Amino acid sequence: MVTPARPVLLYDTTLRDGMQREGMSVSVDEKVRMAVRIADLGVHVIEGGFPGSNPKDEDFFRKLQHEDLGRTAMAVFGMTRGKGRTVDNDPQLRTLADCWAPIAAVVGKTWHLHVQKVLGVDPDENLRMISESVDFLRRQGKRVFYDAEHFFDAYLAHPDYSLRCLRAAAEAGAEAVCLCDTNGAALPMQVAGVVERVMSELGASCRVGMHAHNDAGCAVANSLVAVDRGAAMVQGTINGYGERCGNADLCAIIPGLKLKMGIDCVSDKDMRKLTDTARFVAELCNLPPDPHQPYVGRNAFAHKGGMHVAAVERDPSTFEHIDPALVGNSPRVLVSELSGRATIKQRLRRLGYPLQEDEDLAARLLRRVKDAEHVGYHYEAADASFELLLRAELGLKVELFHLEAFRIIVEKREDGAILSEATIKVHVNGERFVETAEGNGPVNALDKALRMAIERRFPEVKDIHLVNYSVRILDEDRGTAATTRVLIDSSDGRESWGSVGVGENVVEASWQALVDSISFGLLRRAGGDDLEAEQPEGE
Ligand SMILES: [Zn+2]
Repeated sequence: MVTPARPVLLYDTTLRDGMQREGMSVSVDEKVRMAVRIADLGVHVIEGGFPGSNPKDEDFFRKLQHEDLGRTAMAVFGMTRGKGRTVDNDPQLRTLADCWAPIAAVVGKTWHLHVQKVLGVDPDENLRMISESVDFLRRQGKRVFYDAEHFFDAYLAHPDYSLRCLRAAAEAGAEAVCLCDTNGAALPMQVAGVVERVMSELGASCRVGMHAHNDAGCAVANSLVAVDRGAAMVQGTINGYGERCGNADLCAIIPGLKLKMGIDCVSDKDMRKLTDTARFVAELCNLPPDPHQPYVGRNAFAHKGGMHVAAVERDPSTFEHIDPALVGNSPRVLVSELSGRATIKQRLRRLGYPLQEDEDLAARLLRRVKDAEHVGYHYEAADASFELLLRAELGLKVELFHLEAFRIIVEKREDGAILSEATIKVHVNGERFVETAEGNGPVNALDKALRMAIERRFPEVKDIHLVNYSVRILDEDRGTAATTRVLIDSSDGRESWGSVGVGENVVEASWQALVDSISFGLLRRAGGDDLEAEQPEGE
């Protein structure tokens, strides 16, 4: 393994390239909050977008100016000058020059095919566009990074021309040239060879960077291999957000560099913020965090099966590739049909419940889990329901409210509109509450009515949000009479948890999952102690 000559610069483009992901819609204030949080992670550069392209980015840069970003430098993004223009009368270069961000990242063509077919200029004019733009921004006092668009395709087609484009930027004063795999098609062995060549041609004169997309599933691998061959800058996004299949995921690149390649790109303390940062960004982007995401996913260090769990207990390195705490994550033990007594005992220990070495309790719980799984319950993704099961077995409080009845009316009208209305009657500490709510479906109406009914006693219920709701048919050959399993993911903005319900009626299954989700959230808020004592006596 080649040790890179310079420290590796981490370049985050979540707020620019990451926003190209389909359906992404983030407000200016949310972008500002994300920038502050990503800077706190210790990345060296954050690319914030192009203020000349839309008023939102303009507003973003204006607001961000007043925030403390520590040692992180902001980059503003734009293009090389337009064809047939001079740099002095190119309005978008002027916008880049006028922005307060110290770094200007300019993207330009390097691929013959694009230069001629897309841009419609002759190859020499393209070289002038690159060098004059870089030179102009340098003279305006900017640190300039040149993004060589489609570099790997360009190199494959015309290696000499693509290298001339990089040289044009470097000779004009670019601090870094970034090799972009814009189509995301490259494979690690190709990247290795190309980066080696670029390093031998330009490595002495400027920093070489890598910007990978994940269309071939190799974005992280390509980024790591590029650094291995001498690249000293990696561009990526938090959670790998980006158009199509996404950009290279910084949440995997950072620990890959630091823990596996020994490259000190962020401090130990900052790397422990990785999991929280990943979830914070997902939350603001209104996307469910991917539980299977490497390093930071909820299941990244999940163990199932008695033997695995027993082995991890003895020595975590048997089934964990790193210590999860290093990236701010924690191990999880999944409870499933495969689970043995060791799994249950470890769960008990992790949860810090008394009687944790009680063999009888572990055996009783295992039996309950197996019985429940036999009829369709599934606790792997339903840690909340499992913990409630455990609390019930331990004789701890589980029921915060008692259902008397609910009724749901679904009405389809002539004009096609469908209305759902739920009425619920519940008892909290002996007091009866009756509420009615409308929703955009029967479960939504029921959820709203339940919340209204209990919120006077449990105002914290407002902080618990339903993040994901999914229904699965268990015995498909029975058609509409089949048993259904409902999984609900909920969050209070800091933590998330899953609950499960099973029934022949989808509303019944949903109700169970809903009750578990809300009860668990409220119990957790109260520290799992006797909640009743903390509730006020009446209004
Ligand atoms: Zn890109």
